[in-house]
Amino acid sequence: MSHQEPARILEREGDMEAALCGPDLPDFTTVMDACRGRLRQRLSELISMEQLCRQAGDLISTRTEALVEVGEFTLPVVSLTIGNPNTAKHCLILTAGIHGVERIGTQVLLAWLETVIERCRWDTHWRAQFEQDIAIVAAPIVNPGGMLQDSRCNPNGIDLNRHAPIDAEDKVPFLVGGQRISKTIPWYRGKRGADFEGEFVALQNIIKRYCQVGRPSIVVDFHSGFGFQDHLWIPYAYRRQPIDDIGSYVALKLLWERNFPHHNYVFGPQAMHYLSHGDIWDYFHRQCRADGITLLPLTLEMGSWLWVKKHPQQLFSFAGLFNPTVPHRHARVLRGHLLLIDFLLAAARNIEHWQPRGEQEREMQQMAQSLWYRQL
Ligand SMILES: [Zn+2]
Repeated sequence: MSHQEPARILEREGDMEAALCGPDLPDFTTVMDACRGRLRQRLSELISMEQLCRQAGDLISTRTEALVEVGEFTLPVVSLTIGNPNTAKHCLILTAGIHGVERIGTQVLLAWLETVIERCRWDTHWRAQFEQDIAIVAAPIVNPGGMLQDSRCNPNGIDLNRHAPIDAEDKVPFLVGGQRISKTIPWYRGKRGADFEGEFVALQNIIKRYCQVGRPSIVVDFHSGFGFQDHLWIPYAYRRQPIDDIGSYVALKLLWERNFPHHNYVFGPQAMHYLSHGDIWDYFHRQCRADGITLLPLTLEMGSWLWVKKHPQQLFSFAGLFNPTVPHRHARVLRGHLLLIDFLLAAARNIEHWQPRGEQEREMQQMAQSLWYRQL
């Protein structure tokens, strides 16, 4: 595992700005040395992540993006990079564990990263793509404190995906859409105008550091819980109008469906289901757009209601509402999304080959209208 070396990084001019987007914190291994033994039972995902990095050797670089204090622990928010995201022609950003209770998202992401690394060892074509063509930036556990506590929120009681300073333009579901009543109720947004939470800032730094003008980035954020089916959600969550990049999303959906016609994802705008305040990707998308940067976030919402329906005992465990508890179902979920993420990696690497322009983009926008927005 290679570690951050702030002093040397600054020698390269292009990286100067990069180093500014985040604090200079102790490296991943040093942070883990202080807590590894006590975390084995309670936060095995963090241990697995460290193991993956160690086994990957030079293929993965790590950076401690933030430190989160929770009880006796100081937990790291870590980003992993494969390839060089400062110089690569394309970039795919993958995040999971924003909601601590949704461990399966982190596990799916780690399972995919493992296949990426294993394949780098014997497939020279596969490995070569990370030399210049594309870089992967992954933050598999954005909310380690929440995951330790089996809570949706972070240790300060804040729902990180309701925390962005952006209000829905229409009615949101009571409480679930984000609330400022009390941190003892889930979906708490935090006080209006208060400082951003550390985990939120960590993500913001990642976006600032790696999203560049002239280099569109695809983001996939892994969640679980909503619905009987797996959803791929297009922003926005704060309004029912189409996102400016809707043409690109339709093109991506068509590309996916042409290549994998028997897939089982519901691919469409989140606003078809519900609106919410403070969505992190709404906010980052708008921030990037203001800076002239194209960011295409997608939320993979793994439908957990089916897991509960098939195994109702899961209702008695809170974690069981968000994670498959039966081993064969768990394995099926871990392998079930590999193809999709491989596809999104290829889509990010070849974005100029499918992103619509001019007349084509207008056609895609019209298609979006008839697919979704007429009903909204
Ligand atoms: Zn979630």
